Amino acid sequence: LAERLQDTIKKITGKGKVSEQDVKEMTREVRLALLEADVNFKVVKDLIKRIKERAIGQEVMDSLTPGQQVIKVVKDELTDLMGGEHSKIAVAPKPPTVIMMVGLQGAGKTTTSGKLANLLRKKYNRSPLLVACDVYRPAAVDQLETLGKQLNMPVFSQGTDANPVDIAKQAIEEAKENHYDYVIVDTAGRLHVDENLMDELTQMKETVNPDEIFLVVDAMTGQDAVNVAKSFDEQLDISGVVLTKLDGDTRGGAALSIRAVTGKPIKFAGMGEKLDQLEPFHPDRMASRILGMGDVLTLIEKAQTTVDEKQAKELEEKMRTMSFTFEDFLEQMGQVKKMGPLEDLMTMIPGMNKMKGLKNVQIDEKQLDQVEAIVYSMTKEERQQPEIMNASRKKRIAKGSGTSVSQVNRLLKQFNEMKKMMKQMTNMQKGKKAKGFKF
Ligand code: GDP
Ligand code: MG
Repeated sequence: LAERLQDTIKKITGKGKVSEQDVKEMTREVRLALLEADVNFKVVKDLIKRIKERAIGQEVMDSLTPGQQVIKVVKDELTDLMGGEHSKIAVAPKPPTVIMMVGLQGAGKTTTSGKLANLLRKKYNRSPLLVACDVYRPAAVDQLETLGKQLNMPVFSQGTDANPVDIAKQAIEEAKENHYDYVIVDTAGRLHVDENLMDELTQMKETVNPDEIFLVVDAMTGQDAVNVAKSFDEQLDISGVVLTKLDGDTRGGAALSIRAVTGKPIKFAGMGEKLDQLEPFHPDRMASRILGMGDVLTLIEKAQTTVDEKQAKELEEKMRTMSFTFEDFLEQMGQVKKMGPLEDLMTMIPGMNKMKGLKNVQIDEKQLDQVEAIVYSMTKEERQQPEIMNASRKKRIAKGSGTSVSQVNRLLKQFNEMKKMMKQMTNMQKGKKAKGFKF
C-alpha cells in the first residue's frame, strides 16, 4: 500500500495544478489507508466525497506541493470529523457531580476511573470519591481499592455482596455528607454487550442520574469498538468517550468512526497504564496518526528527491548530447539556490560524485550571485551558443553584470570544463556499460 501511495504522490507532486484524475488516484489510496486503519466503511465513503469536492481544481499554495496539499485537505477533514477538543468535564449545579464509567471488560474502566480522579484533583483541585460497583469479580473491588491507596484517594465499596445500584446510591449520599464534589462510579463490564449488563447500567443511570456517562473503549479493538460504542450509546445515551491504550501501535481509526457513528465527543485518551497517563483527546494529532502522517510526509519528501533526480537525469542527458546551454545553467543555478550547495546537486547526477576532477569546476557559493548576473547579462543567443563569445561581447557582459572580463572568462572556462567533464563521464559510463559493468 505504502508503495502505491508513494507512486501516486510522486505523480501528483511535480504538478502545478491538481487534476481531477490526480485527486481520484490520491483519494483511492487514502481510502485504502483509512480502511486499513480501521475507519468505518461508510465514514470513509462520506469523507472521500468531501475530500474530492475540496481538493479538485485547487490552486496550488506556494508552500505546499499539490500532493501535500491534498494530504492537508484529508487531514483537515479528518480533524473536523473528530470534532474539536472536548476535555471539559461537567460540573453539577449542586455537588456531587456524578460520573459513570461504562464499557466492556478489560477496556480500562477501573484504570481510567483512577486516572480521572487523579486528574480532577491535580488539575481542577477537586475532591473525588471512587465507587466500586463491579461486584462480579472480587478482584475488581480490590483493584480499585489498590488504585485508591496509590493515589491516596478514598474508595467507597461494599464488597461483592451488595447490589451495584444500591452501592452507587449510597456512595452519593456519602459524598454529599462528606463534601466530595465528584463521584466516579466504576461499573462492571462483560466480554460482549449483553442484555443483563445493559439492564443493570440502565437501572443505575435512572437511579443516580449521572452528569456524565463516559464510555471507555479500547482503541486496539478496531471496528469492534465502533459497534460497542453504538450499542452503549443507543442504550445509555453516553456523554463522551475515553479511548484507551492509544500508547499501543494501533492506528486508531476507531476513534474516527466512533465519533462519526455516535456523534459523541472523544474526551480523553489513555496513553499508558500509569495513573497520570490520561490526556485530553487531540483530533489533529489523531488525524496525523490515522494517516500515518509521519510516513506520508516521509513519502512526500522521498518523492521530491526523486523528482530532483529526474531533473538531474535530464541535465545529464543534455550534457551528454552537448546541448547544454547557459540557459540550462541558469535554471540549474536557480535550483542550486533553492536546494543548497552545488555539490549536492552534482552528487545527484549519476556518476558525478565519483569524479575526481569535480573540485575544479566547483563554484564558490558566494560567487553564485555574480555568476547569475553574468549569465543574465548574456543575450539569448550567447546563452545558447557560448562559442560566439568574443572580446566585445565579453566586455559588454562584464559591464552589464558589474563584473570584470576576467570573471566572465573564468565562468566561460568553467562552463566548458563542465561540459567536457560531462562528456568524459558519460563516455566512461558508456564504455563500462559496453563491457558489461554494472554502474
Ligand atoms: P476494566 O475491566 O474496563 O476495568 O479494565 P482495567 O481498568 O482493569 O484495564 C484492563 C487492562 O488495561 C489493565 O491491565 C490496564 O493496566 C490496561 N490499561 C488501561 N488503560 C490503558 C492505557 O491507556 N494504556 C495501556 N497500555 N494499558 C491500559
Ligand atoms: Mg474494572
